[in-house]
Amino acid sequence: MKPEISNHRRDFPMLTRKMHGQPLIYLDNGATTQKPLTVLNRMDQFYREEYATVRRGVYGLSQKATEACIASRETCRRFLNARSADEIVFTKGTTEAINLVAASYGRKFVQAGDEIIISEIEHHANIVPWQRLAEEKGAQLRIVPVNDQGELIFSAFEKLLSPKTRIVAIAHISNALGTIHPIREIIAMAHKAGAVVLIDGAQAAAHMNVDVRELDADFYCFSGHKTFGPTGIGVLYGKLALLTAMDPYQCGGDMIDEVRFEKTTFAPPPAKFEAGTPPIAQIIGLGEALRYIEAIGREQIAAYEHELLLYATEALRRIPGLKIIGEAHHKAAIISFIMDGVHPHDIGTILDSQGIAIRAGHHCAQPTMRRFGVPATARASFAFYNTREDIDELIKAVSSVRKVFGP
Ligand SMILES: *Cc1c(COP(=O)(O)O)cnc(C)c1O
Repeated sequence: MKPEISNHRRDFPMLTRKMHGQPLIYLDNGATTQKPLTVLNRMDQFYREEYATVRRGVYGLSQKATEACIASRETCRRFLNARSADEIVFTKGTTEAINLVAASYGRKFVQAGDEIIISEIEHHANIVPWQRLAEEKGAQLRIVPVNDQGELIFSAFEKLLSPKTRIVAIAHISNALGTIHPIREIIAMAHKAGAVVLIDGAQAAAHMNVDVRELDADFYCFSGHKTFGPTGIGVLYGKLALLTAMDPYQCGGDMIDEVRFEKTTFAPPPAKFEAGTPPIAQIIGLGEALRYIEAIGREQIAAYEHELLLYATEALRRIPGLKIIGEAHHKAAIISFIMDGVHPHDIGTILDSQGIAIRAGHHCAQPTMRRFGVPATARASFAFYNTREDIDELIKAVSSVRKVFGP
């Protein structure tokens, strides 16, 4: 017998602390994830015993730090099954990765009259950079609608695709609703129309297998802090030919080949997109986090979290006056819900007083809220360290909200 996946809960110091005298039940993994000891220890060790800058030093410490960053980039390559580590660009996170592509690929290759397609249920990070780009270029932003379950309407997507489509940008998993989009089909269709595709993998990377070559994604990005790693670091995968064709994003040290006052030439990717001293400890911490996930196994994680989703969905549905927003057939372990007569913020506050952390608000997805006619939702989002007992506590607490506010 394989040990229960949730035994890994013990690896997370935060999950042993109390909130308002109660054991912390952390159900806001869609916003950010807790950190395992192995990541904390690795970063602590780096700062205490190995700290030095990278790429510049001839001294041993700097060389060792450089090697650690190279190893981490290789881990990211393996994690996404990219062809080459040169296709892995370190960014601050998903938001910066999308901004990089919009600024660098978009500014060079999108022209007046072109079209950029996104879905109706994107995170603001996958809306606003494209909107700004479209405004700047006189291009059009086209929106693929979703049905009442929160699933992309494929026929509408097909209709929107045309030779004018330059970029299709879509989440792998919706952070607000949990919908898992059929991105392999989306990518194939977009490619047929001659568009490049960016996948916002912020909600997917830690929760399911991602193989960028099998998907044939042109760009794929995620954030370290949502994959049990540190803040301030994320990954942009891009096909080498695309990265090579793109202009630099920010300029400064480390991204150049040769600098003369007349003209500067740039380093090849990924260095071209990584101006300045990188977040060294975060890069090393991210590598450790991804190795930790790999050791547990993303298929195992996905299967376990799916069980949690089914268990929680069924229990929540039994609570009178509660409505789940987003009931896609393919769904990740993210549940958005509302309750008759109770504002989601009040649900969040009452749950917090019982040590349960959920998110309440628009989840950086205001158009999604508008589509479903709600100002906000309460959202419970799970990770492999959550258990059925956590869900039982959630259900008890949400039921008690009904008793406070209910008719
Ligand atoms: C969290 C999230 C982002 C933004 O990630 P940052 O880490 O804040 O840059 C973008 N898209 C989705 C789907 C997300 O869940």
